[in-house]
Amino acid sequence: MKGKRLDKLLAHLGLGSRKEVAGLVRAGQVSVAGKVVRDPGLRVPPGVEVALDGKPLEVRRHHHVLLHKPAGYVTSRKEGPSVYALLEGFPTRDLSPVGRLDKDTEGLLLFTTDGELLHRLTHPRHKVEKRYLAHLLHPATPEDQKAFAEGLVLDGERLLPAELRLGEDPRWVELVLREGRFHQVKRMFAARGNRVLYLKRLSLGPLALGDLPRGAARYLTLAEEEALYGA
Ligand code: URA
Repeated sequence: MKGKRLDKLLAHLGLGSRKEVAGLVRAGQVSVAGKVVRDPGLRVPPGVEVALDGKPLEVRRHHHVLLHKPAGYVTSRKEGPSVYALLEGFPTRDLSPVGRLDKDTEGLLLFTTDGELLHRLTHPRHKVEKRYLAHLLHPATPEDQKAFAEGLVLDGERLLPAELRLGEDPRWVELVLREGRFHQVKRMFAARGNRVLYLKRLSLGPLALGDLPRGAARYLTLAEEEALYGA
């Protein structure tokens, strides 16, 4: 029969890993076209109703994939090594990155098939927060903090206020931006006579990298999706 494997379909709906959703199927919690099924490998043709515990699941229109980008990969389809090489098994053809990370930057990189969502998450008007961890050549100072909070002027343009968080070691800082300009973090510190030695994006709006291993990718959970659309 044509169609998508049931375990794959359920995992794509954000109900858990392939293994976890196979458990739901084997436990008799899933029905297809009104009948309880127990084979996670069953092929489900498009348009057939799938239900969990009797509740129909909405067949998802869009996919959202979170990648822990390692350093050394380019946020591009054309140049290599491409971040798309890390998305094997996902519908890469239709996934676009939500902003870019430099080749030497690591951390949270979201991909989505939803162009409207992408626009909302990247347009400065919506001021979606992005949190970075940076290792600096020189210790950051309270003066840097003040300059960033006031809105630094870069190449004649004033940036939105940014929050610089200084920890015990002021060479390791967190920076929260509400826009995403080209090489923004590196240029902000360069404008203060400093240099970024290492950079990692920790979060984007309501999404956090958490303990996703470097180089791994996963679909967003339903809770994350709801938070994202509400953000
Ligand atoms: N700012 C940078 O300078 N580089 C990135 O990759 C992301 C933000």
